[in-house]
Amino acid sequence: MTEFSRRVEQVSISGIREVFEAAGEDAINLGLGQPDFPTPEHAREGAIEAIRAGEADEYTSNKGTESLREAISHRYAEDRGMEVDPNDVIATAGGSEALHIAMEAHVDPGEEVIFPDPGFVSYDALTHIAGGEPKPVPLREDLTMAPETVEEAITDDTAAFVVNSPANPTGAVQSPEDMREFARIADEHDVLCISDEVYEHIVFEGEHRSPLEFAESDNVVVVGACSKTYSMTGWRLGWVTGSNRRIERMLRVHQYGQACATAAAQHAAEAALTGPQDPVDKMVAAFEERRDVLLDGLADIGLDCPTPKGAFYAMLKVPEGFVDEVIDRGVVVVPGEAFGDHGEGYARISYAVNVETLKEALAVMGEAYDAVA
Ligand code: PLP
Repeated sequence: MTEFSRRVEQVSISGIREVFEAAGEDAINLGLGQPDFPTPEHAREGAIEAIRAGEADEYTSNKGTESLREAISHRYAEDRGMEVDPNDVIATAGGSEALHIAMEAHVDPGEEVIFPDPGFVSYDALTHIAGGEPKPVPLREDLTMAPETVEEAITDDTAAFVVNSPANPTGAVQSPEDMREFARIADEHDVLCISDEVYEHIVFEGEHRSPLEFAESDNVVVVGACSKTYSMTGWRLGWVTGSNRRIERMLRVHQYGQACATAAAQHAAEAALTGPQDPVDKMVAAFEERRDVLLDGLADIGLDCPTPKGAFYAMLKVPEGFVDEVIDRGVVVVPGEAFGDHGEGYARISYAVNVETLKEALAVMGEAYDAVA
């Protein structure tokens, strides 16, 4: 009988879904990793017009349309002063596919991939799927990843390390100095840095910089997406950028696994990237207000939480039994161990809900805390 591949047998379906299912339909869901805003109207229109004009019916070039790749390049130049050649971009089915092809193109069986713990669930799974060995590393007290921790974890077998800032599940933002250090480590140790920047525009404090800006070698690839910035998770549109030879290798995986990103989604993304950016500013301002409401509420309860500086997550230290108690009372939070062994004793809250709902949830968390603390 055909058995399953060893690579796939090492991966399990993310524990986050189970939490939703346990909580019931009326639960307040602070577990979701997506903004609760609509996709900007001009982005939707971009797709609708393309569909009506018959421009979304066919395959595009494997890398994505030239105009989309130019739009991605334009945003890097405009927002961050970064020079990204449109030829060195592959449009992907979300940041997820970009991470996948980055791993597949660079990791050989048995090679190690270093990533933050707690960290986004895909890093461990995609390492296994590429046949590699996950090397999760613990974080600093403020939940950023120390460059020296990464440097110490590098061995002769290391293929890559993943940097994620702003981070899921912690909301932590790495400093520009850290990013410069990650670039130096990629250069000096000759290992690939996969910089997952899908939350790059959702920053309240500090400044988002990319290791790509600082690296002297071509050992950095950057993953981006429309998903979070433009509230377009359902459109499945992201990208990866890096040097020409790395793009060419990743394209081999993308070409045979995906062919191209969905044409209609590419048109929506192009409209989002080239159109007015004020929906992003409004969303970021709303997230910051909610973050402050959340931090005040948690402090009142007595729950400790490093101040999240970006994305829309908070990772808080919780007493034993708290997560189950909160879920039983109808508020979904995700247990920290869903994001790695060092997530134990934490819970992740996504504050992609309105202030009123957040306040309701805080009241429930207060009761749950009193019941277990
Ligand atoms: N990277 C991080 C850190 C994420 O949190 C997510 C989604 O939650 C992704 C990548 C993938 O995003 P996409 O929806 O664009 O595939």
